[in-house]
Amino acid sequence: MDVLTPEQRRHNMSRIRGKDTKLELMLRRGLHAAGLRFRLHSRDLPGRPDLVFPRHRAVVLVHGCFWHGHDCPMCKMPATRPEFWAAKLDGNRTRDWRTAEALRAAGWRLLTVWECSLKGPARLPLDMALRRCADFIRGEEGQAELTGDWAGRVRAAKQT
Ligand SMILES: [Zn+2]
Repeated sequence: MDVLTPEQRRHNMSRIRGKDTKLELMLRRGLHAAGLRFRLHSRDLPGRPDLVFPRHRAVVLVHGCFWHGHDCPMCKMPATRPEFWAAKLDGNRTRDWRTAEALRAAGWRLLTVWECSLKGPARLPLDMALRRCADFIRGEEGQAELTGDWAGRVRAAKQT
């Protein structure tokens, strides 16, 4: 199953550099409305995390599924130069892993919000996604990820 048309894929690749501003804005607005206060892209922290919640010692990283090599259907290897992209995404994953280690070592709690949790066929209802983020930020868990509900999507397909 191909989730994206070639045009969409090209579009994704053209604005690739990892930052999906729209998703990030959506998240920012929701978390601000939930009473959480944050700093943006702190240069003094490993990987310049998208959102930093100093009071809660938590950071949130918003990751595009393709660029950060998420193990989900929204990360589909391009047909052209697959070896190049495999190596590239592998490098990105390694960098993300190092960043996470460095943040954890510095005592930060880390939530990775994957693109597929906020947009695409497996996205969560926005209020649910925001609630899970806020719960993590206010909680004590050291590290967590928010991903799309791909399993639920498979269940729904089987029922029809
Ligand atoms: Zn994903």
